[in-house]
Amino acid sequence: MKVLVQKFGGSSVARAEDRRLVVRHILKAREGGYRVVVVVSAMGRRGAPYATDTLLDLVAGQDISPRDKDLLLSCGEIIATVVLAGALREAGVPVVCLTGAQAGIITDDNFGDARIIRVEPRRIRQELERDQVVVVAGFQGVTESGEITTLGRGGSDTTAAALGVALEAEAVEIFTDVDGLKTADPRIVSEARTLETVTYNELCQLAYEGAKVIHPRAVEIAREKNIPLKIRSTFSDGPGTLVVPWQPGATGITISRDRIITGITNVAGLTQLRVKLDGEREAREVFSTLAEANISVDFINLFPEEAIFTVNNGVAERAVSLLQKKGFKVHARPGCAKVAAVGAGMRGVPGVMASIVNALTQENITILQSADSYTSIWCLVEEENMEKAVRALHRQFKLSA
Ligand code: ADP
Ligand code: MG
Repeated sequence: MKVLVQKFGGSSVARAEDRRLVVRHILKAREGGYRVVVVVSAMGRRGAPYATDTLLDLVAGQDISPRDKDLLLSCGEIIATVVLAGALREAGVPVVCLTGAQAGIITDDNFGDARIIRVEPRRIRQELERDQVVVVAGFQGVTESGEITTLGRGGSDTTAAALGVALEAEAVEIFTDVDGLKTADPRIVSEARTLETVTYNELCQLAYEGAKVIHPRAVEIAREKNIPLKIRSTFSDGPGTLVVPWQPGATGITISRDRIITGITNVAGLTQLRVKLDGEREAREVFSTLAEANISVDFINLFPEEAIFTVNNGVAERAVSLLQKKGFKVHARPGCAKVAAVGAGMRGVPGVMASIVNALTQENITILQSADSYTSIWCLVEEENMEKAVRALHRQFKLSA
């Protein structure tokens, strides 16, 4: 049985005319001899009646438990499965809809950001054997004790990858509203280029640094079993981006292993905190205080007299007051954003940082902080400079060429 998993994001299933395009992609896969598992997200974005953010708005300001919130949020995807199944039936396709729980997606009980711990694909297999198209509600699962959970933003990608692995699919196709993985967010850089092939590693890095076209966890899951991934547009028949392992001399695929920079990413909504220190114990106390409050920190630069790091805007006030209560002097700079140049080939290449500093200073953009790993260089800038910074770096590394 040749299985293909096709995932369609929220903007791909929002309107009836979009769903007709979705049906076309599914029909094509069936014509190619595939049994198809379809994973869907909630229909549309904030404002659309059953979009995830609209459901969240229903309980804004309420003291709702994480468990109940997940129960509410899981409805958006369930609605989408039934609506899409209607369009498939109209086209004469035999179809069955399943919730995440019915599809056998078993997760831990970390409500709101649960992890898939295993997939029990028996029911899906049965339906596929009866030649049904199986439409699965993405972004959700069930705990061992039967509680409904959600997987966090972008979680439908993770559902698709996990099902791809469990069903030993020939490929997992992530359909979205852009042509594929690009050298930067096309909403910021209109001339960003679509990458024909990337390695799992390159995609994973880009996704972790903010290229939100796919959830990084989905890439990790697919990579583990070498399930081929594709990122494609619902709205065209283009081939999109093929994601493959790096194999020297792989037939027909040329991947420039030497690509120094693969793409530019950005994350907005950060607050930089600077905390005065006078000793090692104090630094430990800063980070343990935040860890105990479940506040994640990023971009850490530690000096003997100062700890500098970022937190998400949403938790910044809480972080400051917790630290002040412990007697720390804290300076907060809200309105920051992170831009990053990402590329597996930058390892050991001299001059990359110099190019970045050049590009940003030429645009009068102040670098508030920077850090690097062997595949990325990050700069913290003021949010109002973020888009300009992304465009400057994209130009500097000639990524549209
Ligand atoms: P979906 O609802 O299909 O999951 P998302 O909004 O999660 O769609 O992801 C698609 C969006 O990701 C695109 O509309 C694009 O603006 C954004 N994006 C950010 N960085 C990139 C990138 N490097 N390549 C492609 N798209 C990107
Ligand atoms: Mg998404």
